[in-house]
Amino acid sequence: LSSRTSAAEKEPGGAEKREKQYRAHQGFGDHHGGVSGAHTYFYADEAKCDQHMETFLRCIDASSGSSEDGFSAIKLTALARPQFLVRFSEVLVKWRRFFHQLAAEEGQAGRAVLDTKLQVEKLQEALANLGVASKAESQQWFTGESVGVSGTVDLLDWNSLFDSRSKLSRPLLIPNRKTGQLEPLLSRFSEEEELQMKRVLQRMDVLAKRAMEKGVRLMVDAEQSYFQPAISRLAVETQRRFNGSQPLIYNTYQCYLREAYNNVTGDVELSRREGWHFGTKLVRGAYMEQERERAAQMGYEDPINPTYEKTNEMYHRCLDYVLEEIKHSRKASVMVASHNEDTVKFTLRRMMELGIHPSDKKVCFGQLLGMCDQITFPLGQAGFPVYKYVPYGPVNEVLPYLSRRAQENRGFMQRANRERDLLWKEVKRRLLAGNLFS
Ligand SMILES: Cc1cc2nc3c(=O)[nH]c(=O)nc-3n(C[C@H](O)[C@H](O)[C@H](O)COP(=O)(O)OP(=O)(O)OC[C@H]3O[C@@H](n4cnc5c(N)ncnc54)[C@H](O)[C@@H]3O)c2cc1C
Repeated sequence: LSSRTSAAEKEPGGAEKREKQYRAHQGFGDHHGGVSGAHTYFYADEAKCDQHMETFLRCIDASSGSSEDGFSAIKLTALARPQFLVRFSEVLVKWRRFFHQLAAEEGQAGRAVLDTKLQVEKLQEALANLGVASKAESQQWFTGESVGVSGTVDLLDWNSLFDSRSKLSRPLLIPNRKTGQLEPLLSRFSEEEELQMKRVLQRMDVLAKRAMEKGVRLMVDAEQSYFQPAISRLAVETQRRFNGSQPLIYNTYQCYLREAYNNVTGDVELSRREGWHFGTKLVRGAYMEQERERAAQMGYEDPINPTYEKTNEMYHRCLDYVLEEIKHSRKASVMVASHNEDTVKFTLRRMMELGIHPSDKKVCFGQLLGMCDQITFPLGQAGFPVYKYVPYGPVNEVLPYLSRRAQENRGFMQRANRERDLLWKEVKRRLLAGNLFS
């Protein structure tokens, strides 16, 4: 993250004004620390991003050559400048928080994200009172598709307003939550940043086109929470373009995040409204220790659920929502990317209850190579689509990844040894009792 500093970051006091979580931090520029279950990238320059794209293209080709219905995974920190992803995330989050702030002022604090609906009239009044936009100006914002039914605006309408920035005639100022002073939101995108946005979208476009041509589905991996709003937004942009007739692009949701359910339900609803296929990989999340440490050091609220049990609940709640969507619309697909046996059992039970058959290929499972074969193989034998995530790269980069997997497998190996001892005891008992095959 230390590579270069853009003009906006050099503004006097600029960094102080920014949401703490979405501020680059020197100590976390190396985002390897405290990371498990994920490969990580360093940003060098745009040429390096192009090289990474070439590698991903080769990976798509390899995946298409080795299996039907294959997947290929990409990481956006390999395709874009991480600092840009942090800044884009900050803008998106500020915009969303402003909506929630307005909702709270209308007495709607704490409601589920899709149940929060602002009355257009009241909203216009609030915006005028805050000095954000005159009634005449905001009148133009809330027309046509950006207003939901019955003259209300929900978060998705609000976000679509952000997308159609051309409607905003001047740089938008929104109030700082702490000081109440107006600060520019959109003017913070410099020309250089607009260019970076264009380039990363172009790279994703190239990858998605190759994936489509080769019959390979593309998964956008989830990364640290301070990149994630931008990563997810870029993934959704690509889904809009390529998931019209099939779920080609899969976005990843990390259920250890407190916001996971809001993120999943919001994007499912968006896919319904816009008519594209919702493809997702659900994971618990690989960056917990680093996230907690960063939040504590920088003094913002920990974005991760407080306990493992809460993360499990969140995973099953999100998964259930997507399974219901599959049952009702048939326009959603999910990869259950987990080594957790309870989660796999939960999925199988809910699939049975909802009448989702393995051969529908709407639900598949994923485990990391070298982990949990005792789950992968029986699932495959029972006819469920199941995949192994295969790490690749230079030996010196892949070895630390594999050694982390070996560490994680230690517990499993101990369990396997215990099981072997028990089986051996049982064989001996039966031999002595003379009923080996009963
Ligand atoms: C195919 C595949 C793809 C993956 N892709 C990604 C990806 O794109 N992005 C990503 O971030 N990860 C990814 N992962 C890793 C994943 O997020 C988990 O780190 C890993 O799978 C372990 O979780 P589990 O569900 O398998 O098992 P479990 O052992 O049941 O869960 C462990 C996980 O629970 C959570 N947890 C543990 N303790 C606590 C606690 N005290 N409080 C709150 N939560 C807690 C953490 O997320 C931890 O990793 C992927 C994993 C697989 C199998």
